[in-house]
Amino acid sequence: MTEIDYDLSIRQYLDDGAAILSGVSDSPRLDAELLMGMVLRRPRSFLHAWPERVLDREEAQQYEQLLRRRFSGEPIAYMTGVREFWSMPLRVGPAVLIPRPDTELLVELALRRLPEDQDLRVLDLGTGSGAVALAIARERPRAAVIGLDISQAALELARDNARLLKIGNVEFRESDWFDAVRGEKFDVVAGNPPYVAEDDPHLGRGDARFEPRLALDAGAGGMNCFRAIMERAHNYIVRQGWLLLEHGPAQHMPLRRLMEAQHYHDITLHKDAAGRDRVTECRFVE
Ligand code: GLN
Repeated sequence: MTEIDYDLSIRQYLDDGAAILSGVSDSPRLDAELLMGMVLRRPRSFLHAWPERVLDREEAQQYEQLLRRRFSGEPIAYMTGVREFWSMPLRVGPAVLIPRPDTELLVELALRRLPEDQDLRVLDLGTGSGAVALAIARERPRAAVIGLDISQAALELARDNARLLKIGNVEFRESDWFDAVRGEKFDVVAGNPPYVAEDDPHLGRGDARFEPRLALDAGAGGMNCFRAIMERAHNYIVRQGWLLLEHGPAQHMPLRRLMEAQHYHDITLHKDAAGRDRVTECRFVE
C-alpha cells in the first residue's frame, strides 16, 4: 500500500482510500467512508456534509492505519464492530460469523410459518451474533425465541445485541446442538449452521479467512452439521411444526434425502434473488 499524504480534505482521503481498497474489497468507497467515520467518530452523513474539512495529522495517521488493516484483508465488520442485519445494527467480532444479507431469506421464510397472533416457540440453531433469533423475535413480539450456540464468546455477543436492541422475547443458551433444550418442543426450528466443505477454496478468501472456522467448516461436502441436526431435530419439533435450514447452492439434494429419511413432509426448496438454492424447509408430521 502506498503512503498517504497529509493535510488533505475528507473528500481527498476518501478518494485515495477507495482507490487503495479497490483491489481488495467489493465496496471500496463504503469501506473508506466507514473507516473515516471511525476516525472522526461521526456518521457517514457527516462526511458528505463536510467534504472540505481537513484532517489533522493524528486523524490522517489513524485513517492510514485502518486502511492498512483493511488492505491486508481484515473484514470491515470486525473493524467497526457492527454489521447491519434485518435493519438492525448488530455487534459482531472475530468470535462470530459476520451475518450475510443472504440469511435474511431464512428469516423471511421462518416468519411465514409464524402467524403474528399466536404464542409460538422458535429455536435458532448456531445463532452466532444472534442475527436470526433477534430478527424473528423483533418481528414476532409474541413468540418466545431461543438461540443456541456452542461458543461462549458468541453467546456473549448475542446477549449484548439483545440488550442493546431491547429485544426481550429472546434467550440464548450454550449448547451442542439440542443439548440445552432437552425435553422442549418448538413450532419452528431455523438454522444457518456451518455448511462449507472443508476443502472449499472459499475458506481461504475474503472475510472467511478471518471468521471462526467453527462457524463455517462442516467437513467433507459440508454436510456434517446437517447430519447431526437431522438425527435429532424431530425430537424437538411439535407435530406439524417446521424446520428451515440455510445451505450451500449444491446441498439441497443431499439435505432433502436426510429429511426424507426422517419422514418429513412438504420438503420445499427456496432460491435466493440470484437463483441459487439457499434454504430448504420441511414439516414434521409424526
Ligand atoms: N454463506 C456463508 C459463506 O459463504 C457460509 C455460512 C455457513 O456456513 N453457515 O461464507
